[in-house]
Amino acid sequence: MKAVAVLPGKKGSIHLADLPEPKVEDVPDGRGVLVEVLRVGVDGTDKEIADAEYGAAPEGYDFLVMGHESFGRVLEVGPNVRDIAPGDYVVATVRRPGSSIYDRIGLSDVTTDETYRERGINLLHGYLTERYVDDAEFIVRVPDALNEVGVLLEPTSIVEKGIEQAYEIQRRLKVWRPLRAAVVGAGTLGLLATLALRLRGLVEVTTLARTAPPTINSELVEALGVRYLSTREVPLSEAAEEYGPFDIIFEATGASVVAFEAMEALGRNGVLVLTGISGGNREIKVPGDRIMLGFVLGNKVAVGSVNANRSYFETGVRDMALAEARYPGWLGRLLTHPVQGLENYAEMIRLLTGERDAIKVFVEVK
Ligand SMILES: [Zn+2]
Repeated sequence: MKAVAVLPGKKGSIHLADLPEPKVEDVPDGRGVLVEVLRVGVDGTDKEIADAEYGAAPEGYDFLVMGHESFGRVLEVGPNVRDIAPGDYVVATVRRPGSSIYDRIGLSDVTTDETYRERGINLLHGYLTERYVDDAEFIVRVPDALNEVGVLLEPTSIVEKGIEQAYEIQRRLKVWRPLRAAVVGAGTLGLLATLALRLRGLVEVTTLARTAPPTINSELVEALGVRYLSTREVPLSEAAEEYGPFDIIFEATGASVVAFEAMEALGRNGVLVLTGISGGNREIKVPGDRIMLGFVLGNKVAVGSVNANRSYFETGVRDMALAEARYPGWLGRLLTHPVQGLENYAEMIRLLTGERDAIKVFVEVK
């Protein structure tokens, strides 16, 4: 069976590997779900893995099969699987439980373990292959009506977790009715965060990104009734004065300078959610006293958020269904760059690294 793989630590090693055929019996206790892969989305993490900046092979292999954003159809289930049936569309979660107390209660996304196993990222093969098998615990059903956009569920789950964290934290305030939000970054995550905040009833959302409009991204933002600003024209601090105070800022850029700007731009009692991966070692100068004073006097919070457990995938399914009802066709417009077949992995990498107006690059596996 074909799979797109890298030799971890070896740049430019992406290749077509051969994997043994998975079987439902590979999963203990009759809990196996065998899935035919239909589509797999790729993102910055895959780019880093291909660039050998990240990722480790599973035990017994020298290669790692890539791909963590899956979408597929169930072929067969084990005798103890009741809520999933052959023919169902499904998405698999990414991280698998470790040994911390959080892992034991289904919250592996907040594990305190040093290393974690993530399919397609670290120590476990991913979904850029023809079929995979996993425990029903990690397989989330997607209604047939979402089959054209289901591949967006994994990135949506990241956004759902971030926003849920914000709401959980703000319960400290007893009364919290956020009205204004800012999203910084208008890539896939920034766009999905903009959508999720609108679906939660935020009346005034401002999404900022570097590129000056009009772009597909700015058009998608505006299609949600949201203001799009280029930070080249209106920096975040100015946007806060004009369109704030921001009760929530959702960061989805990975630029550390943006994180500190957002801390300053955040309104009183506000919450800043950081989701970008700042890969480098960049040092920046920040107005530390001013930011700290603002945080203390304004009772502000900043929270980092990574990965997502099953519950956020489930929230994601509900939001995607709501999105299709409220903004029909909007999600599908994010799927800008399809790649036909696993054999075309070179094209996948090229689009991922070189295509400026790509929002979501994805492989049509079948
Ligand atoms: Zn992803």
